[in-house]
Amino acid sequence: MNELTLFCKSLKKNFIPKICDPSKPVRCWPEKDVLGGKIVDAYVIIFRTRGCSWAHKSGCTMCGYFNDSIWNKVSNKDLLKQFDIAMESYNDERFVKIFTSGSFLDDNEIKPIIRNEIMGKLVEKADKVSVESRPEYITDEKLSKIKDVFQSKTFEISIGLETANDFVREHAINKGFTFNDYKKAVQTVKKNGFKLKTYVLIKPLFLTEKESIEDSTNTVDKIKTHTDTISFNPTNIQRNTVVEFLWKRKQYRPAWLWSIVEILKTSKKLARNVMIKCDVVGGGSIRGAHNCEKCNQKFLDAIANFSLSQDTKVFEDLDCKCREQWLDQLDMENLSFGSLVDFSSRYQ
Ligand code: SF4
Ligand SMILES: [Zn+2]
Repeated sequence: MNELTLFCKSLKKNFIPKICDPSKPVRCWPEKDVLGGKIVDAYVIIFRTRGCSWAHKSGCTMCGYFNDSIWNKVSNKDLLKQFDIAMESYNDERFVKIFTSGSFLDDNEIKPIIRNEIMGKLVEKADKVSVESRPEYITDEKLSKIKDVFQSKTFEISIGLETANDFVREHAINKGFTFNDYKKAVQTVKKNGFKLKTYVLIKPLFLTEKESIEDSTNTVDKIKTHTDTISFNPTNIQRNTVVEFLWKRKQYRPAWLWSIVEILKTSKKLARNVMIKCDVVGGGSIRGAHNCEKCNQKFLDAIANFSLSQDTKVFEDLDCKCREQWLDQLDMENLSFGSLVDFSSRYQ
């Protein structure tokens, strides 16, 4: 194991999972999404599982999802109970998104028999179901079983590639797989006729703001022919992570919303036929991507609008005095080796 991997592992050594009811999901809620080019109602379910197997080994530098996991085996009965509870608030939304804070296709998190039961029930109601998985669990055997269930309905698999750059993925994210692993998984997804969504991380650790803009747009260029959707995730500061460790020492600042807008505009130009989205978790807060207090909300609204409409015109009227500070950072950050503090007093 390299030092970063060991450090990710060490941060979980004294982790005490929250005491929570294993028969209840983490959260479920309705939201808007796009299906067949139209804005539709979607329903999101987050299952509480034993957690991502990669997080059990060491985990990614920015990922604190394990904080919501039971970190211990969850029985088949409890997982089905979680699903039943989630379905009590389900209102026939056409699009259902399933998260496990890990991989839905990992048998250690969800046994095949439970996976098939959940899929079988959802396919009767929804037109599209979306799940997440690391590439190593995307096998022909698993997908062909899902294909039997889904037939004419749409099934989407999301992979957290984060960046097309293997060096950054290994040394800044500790992701534990390569761009080639991703491409192999893509082939399996396509072979089975499923849709693919790829998550790209905005501002991994150790990259300057400028480098992270380049890394994101280079990634779009490399994956645009592989994926149907690109979903950008700007890094937010989650508990018990390497990112939090460095952020507390003023060695990391979440991305500027200015940078995100720049990335979205360039990405849409580079990949016109790919659906481009961005979910700014914790946006506008000290732990999330932010500009200044005056313009945060305007930017977040524009990014949310763009994610549904795909129209970059929503960014045209955005302006604020903090643009100069953002541009200064892009110019100066190389000199400070990434340790620039937030300019806005609230964030210092
Ligand atoms: S980002 Fe994904 S792969 Fe990495 S530890 Fe978190 S859940 Fe696991
Ligand atoms: Zn501003």
